[in-house]
Amino acid sequence: MNTDRPKIVLLYQSLLGIYGDHGNAVVLTKRLQWRGIDAELLTVEPGQPVPTDGAVYLLGGGEDTAQITAVQELKADGGLFTALDDGAMLFAVCAGYQICGKSFTIGARDEVIEGLGLLDIETRRGPERAVGEVLHIWVQPDGSTYPITGFENHGGWTELGSDAKPLAAVEVGWGNGNRRDEGAVQGRVIGTYPHGPVLARNPQLADHVLEMALGCRLEPLDISEMTALRQRRIEAVRTGRP
Ligand code: GLN
Repeated sequence: MNTDRPKIVLLYQSLLGIYGDHGNAVVLTKRLQWRGIDAELLTVEPGQPVPTDGAVYLLGGGEDTAQITAVQELKADGGLFTALDDGAMLFAVCAGYQICGKSFTIGARDEVIEGLGLLDIETRRGPERAVGEVLHIWVQPDGSTYPITGFENHGGWTELGSDAKPLAAVEVGWGNGNRRDEGAVQGRVIGTYPHGPVLARNPQLADHVLEMALGCRLEPLDISEMTALRQRRIEAVRTGRP
C-alpha cells in the first residue's frame, strides 16, 4: 500500500450500488484530501482486476441476486483477499456485509450461498424485514461512546460466531436482527447494516477506518456543523420523530 497516495477502492457499484453507499468512498477520499493527503478514489467493476495495493476497500448494499454474482467475481479475482492479507481495510455495508460472512441465504427458496469467509457471521432470512432509522452505540478505541445514525433496510438477519465482535450496540432499530448487536468487526474487516451513507453521517467512524488503514492518527477536522446536524438527527430518532 502506498501511504503517500492512499487508494480508496469502491467495488462493484453496478452490483452493490443501489443504496447510495458509494458516498462512503467519497467521504473517505475527501477526509484525506482535506488534510492535504493525496488520496485517490478508484472504482472497480466486475471483470476488472481488483487492485491489491488499496488502503480501504468498500462494498455497499444491493439486491439478493447481485450478492451471489459479487461473491463469485470477488473469489475468481482474488485481489481483495491479497490486499487484506497485505494489511488493507474492508468496510462493507448491508449486502456487502452479508457476503463477507461464511454464508447467507437468498430469496424465497432460502438457498444457502457460501460467502467470502472474511467474517465469522452467518445471515439467514429473518421473520421480518428490518427497515427504519437506527441509532447504534459504538465504543471508540479510546473507550468513549459515539452514536451511529443511519437507516436500515434488510431481510437478512445476521448471527455472529466467536471470532467476530459486534461493531456497536443497538439503541433504536434491528441491527443484526436481534435488536441487541449491530455489525461485526474481525481483524481489518468492518461490516455494518446502516446506509446513509453511514460514513457521511458518522465522521468519527470514517476517521477510525482511515486511521486503521494508514496506521496513524489523523489531525482532527472542524466538524461543528456536522455535530449540530447529528445532534438533531439523534434526538429525532430517540424521540421517534425521524
Ligand atoms: N439483500 C439483502 C437483504 O435484504 C441486503 C439488502 C441491502 O443491502 N439493503 O438482507
